[in-house]
Amino acid sequence: MDSVYEDVRSILENRRIRSEILLQQQNEQIRIAHPELAEVEKKIADVSEEILKNSLDGQSSEDLQKELVRLKMDREKVLFTLGISSDKIKPYCEKCADTGYIEEEGKEPVLCDCIRKLLSPVMTARSGVEKYPEFSFENDSEQFFSENPRMQETYKKLRLLTEKEKVPNAVFYGRSGQGKTFTAVAIARQYAKQGRSSFVIRLTEAQELMMEHRKLIQSFYTPAGKERDVEKRVGYLTQADLLVLDDLGVEPRTTNTEADLLNILDSRILSGKTTIITTNFNMESLKDRYGGRFFDRIDRNFVRFNFSSEGARA
Ligand SMILES: [Zn+2]
Repeated sequence: MDSVYEDVRSILENRRIRSEILLQQQNEQIRIAHPELAEVEKKIADVSEEILKNSLDGQSSEDLQKELVRLKMDREKVLFTLGISSDKIKPYCEKCADTGYIEEEGKEPVLCDCIRKLLSPVMTARSGVEKYPEFSFENDSEQFFSENPRMQETYKKLRLLTEKEKVPNAVFYGRSGQGKTFTAVAIARQYAKQGRSSFVIRLTEAQELMMEHRKLIQSFYTPAGKERDVEKRVGYLTQADLLVLDDLGVEPRTTNTEADLLNILDSRILSGKTTIITTNFNMESLKDRYGGRFFDRIDRNFVRFNFSSEGARA
């Protein structure tokens, strides 16, 4: 599967091991400094051994059991006096105990912030948002929406949804220069920042990528490195938590492209992954251009956002 998750898992594993080693070292030092602790622990070990022997011989050891309980309480007392709260292994991340996930009853486990922090730079690098350094929620959106209060509100809502991780499939349409790509990239950047996978690609590039992929499948020999790269990027098209297909409608039309796009959309809709499409076309023109099943998918499964300001109908 995806190597980034392997990398992150091994980092978490290393943290756990490091915490354990640290704790062992600490405990050793504590025992040297506090012989009373070492003494009570020695007694606990001795009594436990006696109990085990007895049970192997089929004898009961009621009195020893009581003594064991008392000794354990003594040990707690010693620890308390020394100001050592517990002998549990202290995890690097106390929120998730280095499992990477936070589980709440009756809910799907969610990624812990510690793992998000690890994933964030990787996800940002592969998302393709770095081609648009200015496009982020942190940057000024006034240039696009100052004259367009309706979109200003929508933009704020989309930002909130992104932070709450609930962006619907969406078509951003309207004339160019109205903030469609800006908003889509800002959403993708926020996804990556939160450690989720996102992928921004212009339709024309996606088309080239799919063509290249088809060629690779059909050819007998390809350099391994290149194949992996194409495979990886084609994988993002279906697997990324968020896919932004930028500028639908400018790509040259081929039957393959539409079949490929349909496959991608269907697989993403099925797995509940979010897709955002931006286009300078309005819905009527899209229908004329694509019609059939492809338009049908968009029509049924996507929320439409008209980015054109009032009076400038797209
Ligand atoms: Zn954590």
